[in-house]
Amino acid sequence: MNDSAAGVSHSRIAALRTETEALYLGMRPRTRAAAGAAAHLFEGVPMHWMVDWSTPVPLVVAQATGARLTDIDGHGYDDFCLGDTASLFGHGPAPVAQALMRQASQGLATMLPSPDAGVVGDLLAQRFGLARWQVATTATDANRFALRAARAVTGRPRILVFDGAYHGAVDETFVEITGNGHVANRPGLIGEPRDLSVLTRVVPFNDLDALEAALADETVACVITEPAMTNCAMVLPAPGFHAGLREITRRHGTLLLIDETHTLSSGPGGYTRLHGLRPDLFVVGKAIAGGIPASVWGMSEEVAARFQRVLADKPDGHSGMGTTLSGSPLQLAALRATLEHVATDDAYAHMNRLADRLEAGLAQVIAQARLPWHVARCGARVEVVRTPEPVRDGRAAKAAHHPALEAVVHLALLVRGVLISPFHDMMLASPATSDEQVETLIGATAEVVARLAD
Ligand code: PMP
Repeated sequence: MNDSAAGVSHSRIAALRTETEALYLGMRPRTRAAAGAAAHLFEGVPMHWMVDWSTPVPLVVAQATGARLTDIDGHGYDDFCLGDTASLFGHGPAPVAQALMRQASQGLATMLPSPDAGVVGDLLAQRFGLARWQVATTATDANRFALRAARAVTGRPRILVFDGAYHGAVDETFVEITGNGHVANRPGLIGEPRDLSVLTRVVPFNDLDALEAALADETVACVITEPAMTNCAMVLPAPGFHAGLREITRRHGTLLLIDETHTLSSGPGGYTRLHGLRPDLFVVGKAIAGGIPASVWGMSEEVAARFQRVLADKPDGHSGMGTTLSGSPLQLAALRATLEHVATDDAYAHMNRLADRLEAGLAQVIAQARLPWHVARCGARVEVVRTPEPVRDGRAAKAAHHPALEAVVHLALLVRGVLISPFHDMMLASPATSDEQVETLIGATAEVVARLAD
């Protein structure tokens, strides 16, 4: 059996794990007690993923402000996880907090537009370049609705996803290319009796020949993709990939849905604006309302006109799109505040400057330790990937995933007062993040790496 993971011996991983677990538990009596006290929450947490972090018992957060967290035992953390992107602009940005306070006295959920509605539509169109917008509550829902619209306007049954992608809990995206090259439901998916490969095609990211073949019979309504894959290890598009993707989808009458939920880190208009992409449909969730549950999906003028005809011609009854709290005055107030005052050019300039330093600092730590890892980057989003060279697709990203190593790095950073994202080694620089916090993260990483490298 291989006695190392990505250049680190299993014995070193195990030794550091034992030491950091003892430190974590020993210094957090209240955190330990809280884990036992939440008896009526399933698995002791409000949402079951919260037990999947590296910690032996979940960290309970007493306060989150800016880019800092404090736990219930009084320990402080520099937060580079930022709610896995939901707080990309820092925890509780002041303009959002003020807008929410104001809106609380004017109505939170009316199922009718507030005066902010039209302003938000204009701001979204200006920022991202698509003509027509709708508001949903999660990125998952926005993707579901956009895919439904795509099928409705094209009259085609299938969708296509790239292997290794994640677009939220959208049932039909939970497919993968198996070891023997077939497409099948992902093994981790629960409660799904259907064979999702019937209506979902899967090809490797960055593989235009495979894409061409998969779209050739013109039964695919929509390709859904992140502009750079961020949910395995970070996989950046190869030169020419986006131009090819657009040309092939257009030629086959397949719509292109760009999901910017994570790559909003790229700049004020996301990766799409920065690189001049021309999607037919567009989704962004998580941070777009400064941490309030809201997402938006946009359509090109052409898709909007086709969709309008579908709605005009359809029989009465539920369309399968929309949820009661979507488009609420609460969401609109938070969206407006974020778009007008938080996700600004100045904020991104700060985020990018810090991410430059973080990228360089982490690359230096890795080089000095001679580890076969590299640093990948999408604007304010920085990730350590455990391969010497950039990965090209989901299969390579999966092979770069070493759960025990990742978990020990996370926990060892956490006991040093730094929080990174739980599921891979991703770090975000927010407008509230300071130069000092970046230096702390680089220093803590150097310490942890020194404990792991031979
Ligand atoms: N799209 C992408 C690209 C995502 O990364 C995620 C979540 N990680 C989602 C959609 C779903 O977001 P949510 O869980 O807020 O619905």
